[in-house]
Amino acid sequence: MTKEVVNIRNARKGQYRKVIEQIHLTDKCPFCRENFKYHKKPILKRYHGWFLTKNSWPYKNALHHLIIIGEKHKENFSELTQKDFEAAAYLTRWAIKHFQIKGGAFAVRFGDTNFTGASVAHIHFQIISPKQNKKTKHSKTVTFPIGG
Ligand SMILES: [Zn+2]
Repeated sequence: MTKEVVNIRNARKGQYRKVIEQIHLTDKCPFCRENFKYHKKPILKRYHGWFLTKNSWPYKNALHHLIIIGEKHKENFSELTQKDFEAAAYLTRWAIKHFQIKGGAFAVRFGDTNFTGASVAHIHFQIISPKQNKKTKHSKTVTFPIGG
């Protein structure tokens, strides 16, 4: 079985795609510590082997787009332990409080990137909260693709 650490087909266009293409040539996981140089945002909080940071390339219409990355390389749901979920929950609660997030989504893709639509196979949790029109109080739609 050939394993790809990044999936170019799933990378959005523009600067992000260029970075993913560059990473693909190195064949090294961009979320593993030794290659984490591609990430430009500061690490906001660490907890039990996981850390919280902003997404360098937030989705369209996202007011907040944070990611929680594990220090250990895992790709499959079955590899996640109770402690991993506890760490993700802790960091999510911290982010909600810190950024005063009133609502949004907590999402995670897992497994084969040909199914998930993820550009990076290394499992990461995502916290996404949409922008809101201040006059109408309606939020804009953030699209979180799965597959494709
Ligand atoms: Zn990794």
